[in-house]
Amino acid sequence: MDDSSGLKQKKLEFTLAAVSQLSSSSLSSSSSSSSSVIARFSADSGVAELRFHRDSEFIDGFNVDIGTSQLFKLGPVQSLCVSESSGASKEKSYSRAVTIQFRNEDESRDFHSAFEQWQKDVIQGIHLPNGAIAASKSKFDYKIEPSSAKMYFHYYGQLLHQQNMLQDYVRTGTYYAAVIENRVDFTGRVVVDVGAGSGILSLFAAQAGAKHVYAVEASEMAEYARKLIAGNPALAQRITVIKGKVEEVELAEKADILISEPMGTLLVNERMLESYIIARDRFLVPNGKMFPSIGRIHMAPFSDEYLFVEIANKALFWQQQNYYGVDLTPLYGSAFQGYFSQPVVDAFDPRLLVSPPLCHVIDFNEIKEEDLFEIDIPLKFIASVGTRVHGLACWFDVLFNGSAVQRWLTTAPGAPTTHWYQIRCVLSQPIYVMAGQEITGRLHMIAHNAQSYTMYLSLSAKMWGPGAVQGGILQTSSGKLDLKEPYYRMSQPQSYTMAQDQQPQQLLQAQAIPIHTEDLDEAELLRQPSENTGPHLQ
Ligand code: SAH
Repeated sequence: MDDSSGLKQKKLEFTLAAVSQLSSSSLSSSSSSSSSVIARFSADSGVAELRFHRDSEFIDGFNVDIGTSQLFKLGPVQSLCVSESSGASKEKSYSRAVTIQFRNEDESRDFHSAFEQWQKDVIQGIHLPNGAIAASKSKFDYKIEPSSAKMYFHYYGQLLHQQNMLQDYVRTGTYYAAVIENRVDFTGRVVVDVGAGSGILSLFAAQAGAKHVYAVEASEMAEYARKLIAGNPALAQRITVIKGKVEEVELAEKADILISEPMGTLLVNERMLESYIIARDRFLVPNGKMFPSIGRIHMAPFSDEYLFVEIANKALFWQQQNYYGVDLTPLYGSAFQGYFSQPVVDAFDPRLLVSPPLCHVIDFNEIKEEDLFEIDIPLKFIASVGTRVHGLACWFDVLFNGSAVQRWLTTAPGAPTTHWYQIRCVLSQPIYVMAGQEITGRLHMIAHNAQSYTMYLSLSAKMWGPGAVQGGILQTSSGKLDLKEPYYRMSQPQSYTMAQDQQPQQLLQAQAIPIHTEDLDEAELLRQPSENTGPHLQ
C-alpha cells in the first residue's frame, strides 16, 4: 500500500543533493546529483529502514537498517551512514557505508534529528507516525537468517522430535537425577526453563519443589507444553508457559536458577548456547545457578580405514565417463570435496582413538555470547600407536554442579549412546604417525547465520624416512566442514541438525540395508550404534 501522501509533513522524506555508496568492491558507486534523490524513512517491511529513491525509483542496495546503523557528520552538509551488511557472506558480516550530501545545513540538521528519533523508536519498538510498528529486532533476529529459524522452530514444534529427545533415556534420565538429587537448589526457588520444548524440565523442577517455573519456548511446542502441564495439576499451578524467544520475552521476576538443554551436535550446533547465555544475562539473579553450568568439547585423532574408504567411495559415482553417454568426471573433484565437508555422526568404538583426548571448556556462568561466535582450539596430541590418522573425533559433556550432587551428562564413545552420538571430521588426506609422535593442529569454528558453524580443521605430524631432512618434514592435512550438514551414518531417530529434506532419505537408506548385500562392510558399519558399541561399553 502506498502511504506517501502524508509523509512530507511528518518529515519522513528528505530531498538530498546526492548519495553515494562506499563499499569494499566499488569505492564510490556515486549516484548522479543531476536528478533529485529522496531519502525516505520507512517501516513498511516491519523493520525501520532508510531507503533512497531517485526519480521515484528505489535505489537498489542503498537501503539502511536504522536499528543497526550509525550516522556521522563529515561536514556541515555531508554525513556518513554506516550499517551492518545483511549477510552477503555466511561467516562474517562487513560494514557498508552511504555518504549523504545535503542541500543545506538546515536539512542536514533536520535529517540527523529524524534519524535519531527513528533509532530511539526502533529500540523502544514503538508505533511510528504512519501507524506502523517499528519492530525492534532481537539479538536472535540479527544473527539468524529467518529461513533457518523458521525451519528450526518448525522442527521443534513437532511432537515426534520432542519424543526423540525424551526417549534418549541417558539424556532425560541424567537431567531427572540431577534435578531430583539437588532438590536443595530448586525448593522454594524461581526457575526459568530456557527452550522448554514439551515442558519436561519444568515439570522436573516443579517436582523438585520449585516455587515457580517459567517455561519459555519459541516454537508451537509451547501449546503442547501447556497441555501437558495442565494435565499434571499437582505441578501445573507452579508453572507458567511463555511462548516466545528467550531473547524477546519479558518475565515478571528474576530467576534463582536456569535449567536448559541447549546442546546440539558437538555441543555448539544450533547456536542455542548463545540463547542460554542471553537468558542468563536477562533473567538470572547475580550468582544464580545454571543447570548445566559447564560444557566441554573433547577431541582426539582417530584412525578408521573403513570410514575413510566409505566416504572416498561415495564420490566414485562421478568418475563415470559414460553415464547415459555423459562424462560425469568434471564434477568428481567437487563431489569428493563435498563428502569430506560433512562431519560424520555415529557411535564409534573408542579403540579407534589414536591418542588420549584433550578438551575445551565452556563455562556457561562466565562466557559472553560473543565468545561463541568464533571458537579456536589449538590441538596437540601424542600418538599412542603407529597408524594412519584419518581425522578428528569429537564429543562433549555437560556438568550439573548441584549443591548436593555433581553429575556429568556425557556423550563419549564407549559410554551409553545418546541421540547426539559422536562426530568425526574426516580429512581427505590421512597422515601417518608413529607411536609417541606429536600431532599438532587447529580446530577453528566460525558461527554462521544458519544456526551452525563452519569448521576449519588441520592436523600435522612430522614425516620421517628417505628424503626427510634432519628433524623431518611436516605433513599437514586440512579440511573445511559444515556442522549444519552432517552425514548420519546410522539408523536411529535423529536429533536436530538434519536438513528437513534429508530425513526420509536417511531413513530409507537405513531400511534398505538388508537388501544391499553387495557391500557387506558398509552394511556392517551402518548397523545400530548400540550393536556396534555394545561389546565395548565400559
Ligand atoms: N527442554 C526440552 C527441549 C529441549 S530442545 C527437553 O529437554 O526435552 C530445545 C528447545 O529449545 C526446542 O524446543 C526449541 O524450540 C527451543 N528453543 C531454541 N532456541 C530458543 C530460543 N531462542 N527461545 C526459546 N526457545 C528456544
